[in-house]
Amino acid sequence: MPDYGFETLAVHAGQDPDPSTGAVMTPIYQTSTYAQPAVGEHRGFEYSRTGNPTRQALEACLAALEGGSRGLAFASGMAATDAVLHLLQQGDHVLAAHDLYGGSYRIFERVFGQLGLTFSYANAADTQAFLAQIRPDTKLIWLESPTNPLLDLCDLAAISHAAHDQPSSPLVCVDNTFASPYLQRPLDLGADIVLHSTTKYLGGHSDLVGGGLVVRDDALAERLAFLQNAVGAIPGPLDCFLVLRGIKTLPLRMQRHAANAAVIAGFLADDQRVTSVHYPGLETHPQRALVQRQMRNPGGMLSFQVGSAAKARAVAGAARLFTLAESLGGVESLIEVPAAMTHLSVAGSPLEVPSDLIRLSVGVETIEDLLADLDQALGRA
Ligand SMILES: *Cc1c(COP(=O)(O)O)cnc(C)c1O
Repeated sequence: MPDYGFETLAVHAGQDPDPSTGAVMTPIYQTSTYAQPAVGEHRGFEYSRTGNPTRQALEACLAALEGGSRGLAFASGMAATDAVLHLLQQGDHVLAAHDLYGGSYRIFERVFGQLGLTFSYANAADTQAFLAQIRPDTKLIWLESPTNPLLDLCDLAAISHAAHDQPSSPLVCVDNTFASPYLQRPLDLGADIVLHSTTKYLGGHSDLVGGGLVVRDDALAERLAFLQNAVGAIPGPLDCFLVLRGIKTLPLRMQRHAANAAVIAGFLADDQRVTSVHYPGLETHPQRALVQRQMRNPGGMLSFQVGSAAKARAVAGAARLFTLAESLGGVESLIEVPAAMTHLSVAGSPLEVPSDLIRLSVGVETIEDLLADLDQALGRA
């Protein structure tokens, strides 16, 4: 593709009109296998675990949006995570940011910990302290920015470049689910692998579960494509179609998510019933300079504290327009209590989150309606 802008890539990358019919929307190639013209010859597709035209369109689009050379689609964000961890060998060490997605912590400790990988966690918001935790056996660095659910940032460029200078030259993987490629592109900042749960902002409509990886290095792409096919955790063509459709409006949605989140963060910051607000767009966010350097806008996720676990449960339970649900990144607003829901799997660990924390995934609804709902929910706590 020519050097198109992000919005153009979101609509078109990987999605030329179908050559045989002219269909403008990528067809859902709901097939497991492909007729071969002769023994040992094929037209690019043999079997749909290995390759499928709808999935290929999504993979090309993901690669274009993240500025990579190769995208790989998976059945879920966790399946994508599994593929990255399978690059490692027994005895290898992974250094991860300390407030990471609960499911990532679970697969690290309870699946790959059993198979001989070792994991440690450090605060990646403190670049120097984090880098000091890299060991001679560290083969992978796992970052999220902004983090879930406290919305801290880490300096992706500084950590990626310093990590590559270490003797063990660890791969740097960035889980870019919270930001989406519209807000930040980790490969441009020096990361090796970008991971997405396409379930969230890329899909954008809470109607599918999916994952993706994007890389620049061809050898790394080959290893991951081998794992994608060998392990087989691939998405079906209908889900690939839905992600592609969602991506077309990603820039529009991200602008509205961020605009609504900024107003809500301001409202909560001024409210006596709220003890603290975590949102990268607030002037009070401790990493404002990094937000401006690293992200196009501060995104649609925020969290806030209300003083006690009981109040947090009451507020989340009293919301009406904000749906009480896990997940994030859809057009509809969601509310949840991480300590009791998404982050239950890290309870009792060093990654435990404050029990009075409420997380919002701010949707694209009318802002006055969202504010009124939060106001009445806080009033009933
Ligand atoms: C949801 C999520 C995942 C896991 O993705 P699934 O699609 O649910 O498997 C990983 N990382 C982050 C930051 C997430 O929000």
